[in-house]
Amino acid sequence: MAIFTKATFILMLILVLSAYWMYDGFDEDSVKGKQVVITGASGGIGEQIAYHFARLGAKVLLTARREAVLKKVVEKCKELGAEEAFYIPLDMGNLDHTKRLIQEAKTKFGGLDYLILNHITTSHLELWKGDMERLEQIMNVNFRAYVSLATEALPMLEASKGSIGVVSSFAGKVGVPYTAPYCASKFALDGFFGALRQELIFKNKDVSITLCILGSIDTPNARSAAKAIQDPDMYSTSSADTALAIIRGTVTRQREVYYPHMIKPITLVRDWIPDILDSVIRSNFKVDTPE
Ligand code: NDP
Repeated sequence: MAIFTKATFILMLILVLSAYWMYDGFDEDSVKGKQVVITGASGGIGEQIAYHFARLGAKVLLTARREAVLKKVVEKCKELGAEEAFYIPLDMGNLDHTKRLIQEAKTKFGGLDYLILNHITTSHLELWKGDMERLEQIMNVNFRAYVSLATEALPMLEASKGSIGVVSSFAGKVGVPYTAPYCASKFALDGFFGALRQELIFKNKDVSITLCILGSIDTPNARSAAKAIQDPDMYSTSSADTALAIIRGTVTRQREVYYPHMIKPITLVRDWIPDILDSVIRSNFKVDTPE
């Protein structure tokens, strides 16, 4: 009986702590009318982020390269209830374009509350063979563009006490084989935005930075890039649920968001049992054609 009571107490404690850990105080109404820029919004998680913000009544400015697709996403945003919805086709590999995006936000909205940095150049799973040009391209699109966008947007975000959501990856916390340049770009985001967060505090600037660490999420590009993986069912987490987790974390000014949640304990043991974790990752990332 005493054992049963102790077990019940421990279970209750775990449930209460989990509920406390999961509670973020997110208020949907707080997003209405807010001015949002979303990159990589023509597909995958970015498109879903746009739809959630639209449903919550925000004003959205979307970007990606494919104009025809962006046009359709903007139409759907308007149907879902966006207070305003615009798009501008741009290439995030071009630093003039990153500046143009923030200028467009200034022109269209006159300010900015949330900057969601989400785009990536799609990469295939392959062993690192020394393609320095491709490395540069990936770093330009996946990292330098994020830095440029945040830098250009900071004056508006400082004025609004706004937030930056930086979409990263498990591969930005742990080395994942077949993705070396992608991994490098995501680790770089962690370093840069971690330092920037500190400097904003030094400067008394009330801009929050939320790093979103995602596991395998069901998007067409991720599935196709990972089709050589022997267990494609890894990619079963919904992109719409992931998008909402990113928004909740950014709006409630969390330091980091892990989605799905089980990613967090895995990254926590990274420094305690690195060799075991590496071995588990290798066995999950067995691909059919490693060469
Ligand atoms: P997708 O590949 O589905 O979408 C990428 C988006 O970026 C598209 O809208 C694409 O549009 C845009 N894009 C690509 N290249 C450029 C460019 N040069 N200039 C401007 N826009 C560009 O990505 P996901 O939705 O799968 O991923 C979104 C985020 O989530 C990324 O940061 C990714 O690292 C992260 N993530 C995703 C995981 C997953 O399993 N899906 C796992 C972990 C992290 P267009 O082609 O029209 O330019």
